[in-house]
Formats: sequence, structure tokens, C-alpha cells
Amino acid sequence: MALLCLELTGKKIRENIQQVEKYRSSVDLVELRADCLAGEELFQIHKFPLMVSLPVILSIRREETGGSFNASEEERRKLFELGLTGNYAFVDFEAGFQVPSLKEKALNSGIKIIRSFYNLSGVERSALLSSEIPKFEVRPSSTADFLRFIEAVLSLKEEPSCSGRRIFVARGDYGFPSVVLAEKLGSFITYCSAEGRESAHGHSDPETLQEIYRFKNIKRETSLFGIIGNPVMHTRSPRIHNPAFKHLGIDAVYIPFQTDTLPEFMKLMDIMDIRGFSVTIPHKERIIEFLDSQSEAVSATGSCNTVVRRGKKLHGENYDVEGFLDPLKKRLGSERLKGMKATVIGAGGAARSVVFALVSSGVEVCIINRTKEKAEKLAKEFRCKYEGLDESGLDLARIYNNLVVQTTSVGMYPNVDGDPLPEYEFKRDQIVYDLIYIPEETNFLKRAKEAGCTVIGGGEMLLQQAYRQFSLFTGKQYPFNGSRD
Ligand code: NAP
Repeated sequence: MALLCLELTGKKIRENIQQVEKYRSSVDLVELRADCLAGEELFQIHKFPLMVSLPVILSIRREETGGSFNASEEERRKLFELGLTGNYAFVDFEAGFQVPSLKEKALNSGIKIIRSFYNLSGVERSALLSSEIPKFEVRPSSTADFLRFIEAVLSLKEEPSCSGRRIFVARGDYGFPSVVLAEKLGSFITYCSAEGRESAHGHSDPETLQEIYRFKNIKRETSLFGIIGNPVMHTRSPRIHNPAFKHLGIDAVYIPFQTDTLPEFMKLMDIMDIRGFSVTIPHKERIIEFLDSQSEAVSATGSCNTVVRRGKKLHGENYDVEGFLDPLKKRLGSERLKGMKATVIGAGGAARSVVFALVSSGVEVCIINRTKEKAEKLAKEFRCKYEGLDESGLDLARIYNNLVVQTTSVGMYPNVDGDPLPEYEFKRDQIVYDLIYIPEETNFLKRAKEAGCTVIGGGEMLLQQAYRQFSLFTGKQYPFNGSRD
């Protein structure tokens, strides 16, 4: 099984020991990044393994390879020499750092050598012939980069190697799937960091990897699902799908794939055998050209938020439509929607699904949007009224006033003070629905609540569409329906 290694980048030894204590039960080993330690702390590095009673990797990385060490090579050699008198399990040397005396010292002390390569071309195969453990590390900055990394990993993973082990690391948001899928990719170790230290936004700390992604349960045959978007690492969807896989005993994992270009993601999907995925901003429209079949809601809205593989074919659904309607129907019943008047604020991707859902339910809709031309285009497709986000829009909204649906990103985290229509005065018998789910209650909804309106936040829609996605992915009903987010 792939091992989970906590990377320790504290300035003080004491700080690193606190991190080890916090995550001890979730990790298999730790890496002391001695390059991050403050000068006076370096004199204790040989004592560190005994202080933590876990296997420890010693590394001293230069700035060029993502570290903080900027003194001379002679200084680095001396530090390694001191470190290797300690009880380390592994030492990590960069590919170009070839010091025979240190190598000998490590081997004589039973310390295994990890040899780090920072590109994936040329040298790797020869690295497999050494008794050292080769580690290939990259920081992809696009889907194309990550695809190249995965292609290289898949071609290397079955090759025989002298050490019998190899380590593959892709860092950052684009590389995050490789952290979770170390076992699937044949990596001996995967690296994680204390909450908030790496860029993968709260996904790559040891507890999240173990509890949400069930890192230790992932096998080579584990089915793979995910979400694509850009940005996507703020997503709550892994916390919705993964606990349900666990509860039902389904051998599957759901992971965010930071995706800038769809053709490259499609290749990734093929070679990684991704069985299905959710789609978010900005790919909901463009994904349609890759589908072999699609639901009526996808055709009507021109927007797709769920894709599943059926054999070699891709089928697309738009669960935003039903996901949006569910919370309304729960409060009103489908019949009472008919004949209501609604204002939809915004004319982007989400608004398309909302307008289609409302019009199909017999609601009379007006659309008001900052860019009036976009409101006009959407309104003409669905035969609605429209205006800009201005005085005329306000006048129209005062008429279409049973239901107000806020579909813009104004008020969304981190710009939580925003309000798309601050001049609008709510009346107590209105229903006000904001699609934003972070924060749970936007300023817009707060104002509506204070005026006595019935309010609905975007979290409910998110869950309702996720329940449907889960059924499409697994053929099973979501197990915690209504009781979990
Ligand atoms: P989108 O296609 O980019 O559309 C953004 C909309 O917001 C456009 O109408 C845009 O107006 C408007 N807008 C952006 N900045 C504005 C500003 N400063 N002032 C006034 N209007 C502004 O995005 P989307 O996919 O529709 O998503 C919109 C929101 O819905 C996001 O917050 C998203 O998280 C949320 N959403 C929630 C769910 C859920 O499950 N709860 C599902 C989908 C989406 P212009 O046309 O003038 O640019």
C-alpha cells in the first residue's frame, strides 16, 4: 500500500513535533524539510527521528527545486552529514546532488536513498536501474501538463526497478488527483501537509485524505469519479459523494480535477478510466460537444453539469434544472408554481437552467441582467420579458414579484458584501432563492429574511443535483438524502 507522508515545513523543530502529534494517527511517516528550519534549529536535525518515533525522511531542498535552502553546497553537504548520524529511515537527494561519501554513509547506516528528479523526460528509465528509490516530482500548471505526467507515470509504473519502488508526485491544484491516487499510480509514498499549507485548499491534509478520500482504501481497481472546473478546488462535492460511497460499501472515489482545457481532460478521462464526472464553471456549455447522447434538459438549456461513461460513450445530464426545482416544490408543491410571476436576476449559465425550469413549470418569468444583451438573448429563447440591472429592471422586478431568483455570482465568497440589487425592497409574502451556497446566507438573502420572506439558499440545490448525480454514477439512491451536506 502507498504510504502517507506528512511534509514538515515548520521553522522550528518544536512546531514540527506539534504537527506530528496532531496527525500521528493519520500518517505512516514524515519528511523533515530541513531547508525550512531557522538557522539555530539546524544543529538538532540528527536528533529529530528520536523525538517523533515515526519513520522520517530527511531532505534539504534548494530554491530551484521548490525548497528554501540558499547557502552553499558545502554547507548543505555538512548538514546532510550531521543529519545522517541520526536515526533517519530515508534521505532525499536531488538528482544532481551526487556526493559519494554521503551515499556511503547513508547506506552504511541503513538509511535508504530517495533520488529526486524534477522533470519527466530522458533520465527516468536509467533511474529505475539504481538501487536508490527514484522520485519523479512535477508541478503541473495546466491539464496538458498533468496529462503528460500521468502518461509518463503509466508508462513507468510497470517497468522493473532495482529498488522495487518508485515515487510519483504532482503538486498543486492540477496535481491533486495524484496525491489521492498514489496506490493506483503505483507510487510508494504520497505527500500531504498540515491544513492550509499546500495550495490544494483544504483537500490535502492527512485527516481529509483519510476521512473524506479514504486514502488507505484506494486500490488499483477502485472506480474513479470527479468534478471538473476552473477553479474547482473550493468544491464541496467530494464531501457529498465520498461518504456515500463509504456508507454503501462502493469501491469508488470522487476527486476534484482542476481543468483548463477539455480535450486534454478527455484524454485523461480515457487513460485514468474516469467513469463519470460533475461539470462546473466554465465547462458546462463546451462539454456538450464531447457527448454522444444528452438529456432533454441539456438540449433545452445548452448546459450540462453531469457526464457518465456508458461503455465508450458519454452521456450528459443537466441536474441543475431538477436540483433547482426540488426545494421550491418541497415548499409549494408543483401545482402552486403554475401561474406565479418570477424575476430571475442574472443571465449566465445557471440562469439558463433556472429559466428553463421555471418556464417548464408554468411560471411567468422576467430576466434582469447587468449586460442587457445577454438578458435579451436568454429571454427571447424562452419567451420572457427582460431588462438591465437598472431602474427599468427594478420596475419589472416589482411586477414579477412572487418569486425572486438570484443567479449571479454577486455576494459569493470571498466578496460576501455584494448585493446585486441593493435598491430592491422585499415584501413578506415573497419567496427569495439565492443560488450561491458559499456563504450559506448571502447579504441578499439576509435582507429578504429580515423582510419576512421565505428564503432558500443554494446549498439545497447543490445537494439535490448531487443526489441525482450519485444515482447516475452508481445506480443506487443517495443514502443520506436530506440529512447531510
Ligand atoms: P456565469 O455563467 O459566469 O454567470 C454569471 C452571472 O453573474 C451573469 O449574469 C453576470 O452578468 C452576473 N454577474 C457577475 N458579476 C456581476 C456583477 N459584479 N454585477 C452584476 N452581475 C454580475 O456563472 P453561473 O454558472 O451562472 O453561476 C452563477 C452563480 O450561481 C455562482 O455563484 C454559482 O456558484 C451559482 N450556482 C449554484 C449552483 C447550486 O447548485 N447552488 C449551481 C450552479 C451555479 P453579466 O452577464 O453582465 O456578466
